[in-house]
Amino acid sequence: MFGMGKKKPEPAKAATPAAPGVATAMPAASTIKRGPMNGMMQDWKLTVDKVIEHAYLNHGHQEIVTRTVEGPIVRSTYNDLYNRARQCSNALLADGVQKGDRIATLAWNTTRHIETWYGTMCIGAVLHTLNPRLFPEQIAWIINHAEDTHVFYDITFQPIIEAIKDKVPTVKHFIVLTDAAHRPQSAMTNLRTYEEYIAGKSTDVTWGDFDENTACGLCYTSGTTGDPKGVLYSHRSNVLHTLIGMQYDAIGIGARDTVLPVVPMFHANAWGIAFSAPAVGAKLVLPGAKMDGESIYELLDGEKVSFTAAVPTVWLMLLQYLEATGKQLPILNKVVIGGSAVPERILRAFEENYGVEVIHAWGMTEMSPLGSLGSMTTPVLSQDRETIVKYKLKQGRTPFGVEMKVVDDAGKTLPRDGKSAGRLVVRGPAIAKSYFKNAGGNILDNDGFFDTGDVAHLDELGYMQITDRAKDVIKSGGEWISSIDIENFAVGHPAVANAAAIGLPHPKWDERPLLIVQLKPGATATKEDMLNYLNGKIAKWWMPDDVAFVDNIPLGATGKINKLALRATFKDYKLPTIQAAE
Ligand code: ADP
Repeated sequence: MFGMGKKKPEPAKAATPAAPGVATAMPAASTIKRGPMNGMMQDWKLTVDKVIEHAYLNHGHQEIVTRTVEGPIVRSTYNDLYNRARQCSNALLADGVQKGDRIATLAWNTTRHIETWYGTMCIGAVLHTLNPRLFPEQIAWIINHAEDTHVFYDITFQPIIEAIKDKVPTVKHFIVLTDAAHRPQSAMTNLRTYEEYIAGKSTDVTWGDFDENTACGLCYTSGTTGDPKGVLYSHRSNVLHTLIGMQYDAIGIGARDTVLPVVPMFHANAWGIAFSAPAVGAKLVLPGAKMDGESIYELLDGEKVSFTAAVPTVWLMLLQYLEATGKQLPILNKVVIGGSAVPERILRAFEENYGVEVIHAWGMTEMSPLGSLGSMTTPVLSQDRETIVKYKLKQGRTPFGVEMKVVDDAGKTLPRDGKSAGRLVVRGPAIAKSYFKNAGGNILDNDGFFDTGDVAHLDELGYMQITDRAKDVIKSGGEWISSIDIENFAVGHPAVANAAAIGLPHPKWDERPLLIVQLKPGATATKEDMLNYLNGKIAKWWMPDDVAFVDNIPLGATGKINKLALRATFKDYKLPTIQAAE
């Protein structure tokens, strides 16, 4: 131990008082207090009630515009949101809701949904977003796993509720997010409308009387392999994720922005926008159930939206609408696109035809979800346009608050050289350390990194590029072929609406790629057309062994290509190259 066995230190000699303006003598080294020391700053709990309270106090009159599920566009403010969320809290408390209880929503992005969101979280209950695009049996499975006590849902989902209501014994309360005039026909006795539910409730309630590590939100991954798993966010992780998202090179919105989160709140928290928009006091525009090109255009144009975010399929619909009508996007400044890789033609159309900056983003439910964003750096911007486009098509750089690296199968870190691809692993305060009820056991490695299941490389400037999902990668002759690269080039063909590449078994090469193509209505293309188009764009040994045309490429619940379904459809398909190899 320090100083053990030493003579007791002499007390310091009293210093001669210094004349005014003259520095006092340094204390003797032996009297300096040493050892770990705490900072003397306030314990300001990182709980999400702070977010909405900040919006209420500082941006109370800022507008929130909702295309309601009932039809009309309605206007309210952060003031209204705050007060009605407090009424919702009191309604939940009156039902006996306690901290930790799970409250589910099956709802589009609307003001009522955000009221329920804060009304639940701020009293320490857990807001569980359900994905309505799943099959009713899957929704019932998830509700039972989460043991939800309440389900708040939109009128459009009454058929789902009728189908599952007798299969979810923990749910005692069904609240339909509408008013008495729009109450759906139903024989259910435990059903109330939201407006009745909160009517007359006080706005006086205690929020945030719990630890910052208290559970706050629950979202299940879509479970493309195995059962869905619940990601349980905490107040602390949500607040930190909000701060991560607010960085200029991340979502980077401000009070002057009008923000349209088309990405649903049930798809990984609308990428954090349900928190970051109130945190900065941006005007919020909520699209309700309508995501077709015309409806989204109407909001973008009518509400003068400056910032929006969604998966590529939504933007394909908008761009088709703009091309068909000749309409423009003079106000829109930035669009964040993620959830799956941005096809080059979407990037170019936004930037080159409409003057809208595209930010390509990557993330996952387990990461709250932001992982990387394609913000530009000076070394990139000083290059020619074609090089810039190549960087923009990468999945981007990681904001402060997320650590990432690429490792080989033995766990060795691979160099940041823009070509060494391996498993992408991540670490950070808004990244899951285990799943709800410990499903799947330990999910971190010895250094606390989470394996994303994506295959990627990082370059010298920190830009990450996904080359595949580990489970979708096509393994040919001991090497990996990126299904994403083949798909991205294939959708550039003018006749192609959507394309998917999957690996099929091959006796010589282990697997070889099959390209599956959905043509645009009325368009034609042959296998030779497709292969000629890909020729020179991808390595020769990546060329698909065959091309199959389908009427419809199946999409999963979050709008991504459902490769599992495609693999099932094509499981007995025999590649023409197999005979040649035999
Ligand atoms: P799901 O439950 O559908 O997997 P997530 O949103 O959590 O929902 O999906 C995360 C996965 O989506 C990532 O691991 C990655 O494979 C894929 N993904 C997300 N964004 C991108 C992107 N920009 N480019 C390529 N893949 C992406």
